[in-house]
Amino acid sequence: QSKRAGRNRYRFFLPSMNEGALERLGMEENLRHALARDEFELHFQPKVDTASGAMTGAEVLLRWRQPERGLVPPAEFIPIAEETGLIVDIGAWVLEQACRRVVEWEDRLPAGFRLAVNLSVRQLQGDIDEAVRHALATTGADPARIELELTESMLMEDTERAIGLMDRLSAQGVQLALDDFGTGYSSLYYLRRFPIHRLKIDRSFVSEVPNDRSCAAIVQATIALARSLGLEVIAEGVETTDQRDFLRDAGCPECQGYLFGAPVPGAAFAALLDSRRPQTRTS
Ligand code: C2E
Ligand code: MG
Ligand code: MG
Ligand code: MG
Repeated sequence: QSKRAGRNRYRFFLPSMNEGALERLGMEENLRHALARDEFELHFQPKVDTASGAMTGAEVLLRWRQPERGLVPPAEFIPIAEETGLIVDIGAWVLEQACRRVVEWEDRLPAGFRLAVNLSVRQLQGDIDEAVRHALATTGADPARIELELTESMLMEDTERAIGLMDRLSAQGVQLALDDFGTGYSSLYYLRRFPIHRLKIDRSFVSEVPNDRSCAAIVQATIALARSLGLEVIAEGVETTDQRDFLRDAGCPECQGYLFGAPVPGAAFAALLDSRRPQTRTS
């Protein structure tokens, strides 16, 4: 009897582990070892001056090079890294690597160039202030070269604590940007209180300009809002010259998107920095 019950339980358990759940479990297990196995790499996407096309900075985008699967995009592993808490260590690694690059590339970087790192809500719940301090201190990176991208939804969870954290981060000399702006619960009250430097207009609006009138209006209003609050503003996901022209005419000073360059590995990005560097004439 008990044997049959056991078998029943066994039969009940296996079919419930569908392929998706099994794959996820395998991924979680692999993700636990990915840092130690050195499987993460950073890619870099240029941010440019809308009018001149000159590079103003770059966004750091995390990639996971898994032996069996190749390059895994963040959408497939960051949610798991967040649920398991692994993102805290992964995020600290990203911060430190970004700081290392800033030091390594210092001679090639244009004035005002910043490297922007995305943060996760889990990092904000932890000791992000200390993680940033540690990354800057161990690498000797200039904090003015580092920007942190946060999203509205991350900040709205515990707003007062978030404001305190942002104040401490800002005091370290790094800049703060509000990523995917317009897609979260934007409270204008908090927007005024957040010690941020820059809004990043979400791709979902940018991709519909100039043709969609409401998206065009939202983009123009966001630029005006940033201006009147004394914030910088950048548009993400710019893919066409029509979009770029619209943004330029709307007074958006900075752009990022495939039109100006896709994210590329460090060596390719270093080459890009070299190719854009003003050449010193020899004769
Ligand atoms: P995000 O921070 O909003 O990054 C922009 C995403 O849009 C990137 O996707 C980028 O490759 C993509 N993108 C850039 N230009 C264009 C364009 O012109 N058209 C289109 N269709 N897409 C464009 P990616 O690299 O797959 O990253 C997705 C998200 O993963 C990021 O969104 C960010 O939220 C997260 N992420 C990436 N790296 C990290 C990281 O180091 N830490 C954390 N916590 N999150 C990260
Ligand atoms: Mg971002
Ligand atoms: Mg974004
Ligand atoms: Mg986005």
